[in-house]
Amino acid sequence: MQISINAEKCTGCMACMEACSEVFEAAGDKSAVKTPLVPRGCEATCRTVKNSCPAEAITITN
Ligand code: SF4
Repeated sequence: MQISINAEKCTGCMACMEACSEVFEAAGDKSAVKTPLVPRGCEATCRTVKNSCPAEAITITN
């Protein structure tokens, strides 16, 4: 499972970083992914984070 963030849409609300610091990190006033390949143990959390991102900035692909 791969994940990415559209930096143009991201508002920097920090919700994803608070939910999963293994995958998301701060990049200036936005969020970025530490690694596009989601660790297996983080997959469920990342799906939830994607669905709850207020900016719909997160994309998940298999
Ligand atoms: S939850 Fe969405 S809008 Fe908020 S920091 Fe993460 S990617 Fe950006």
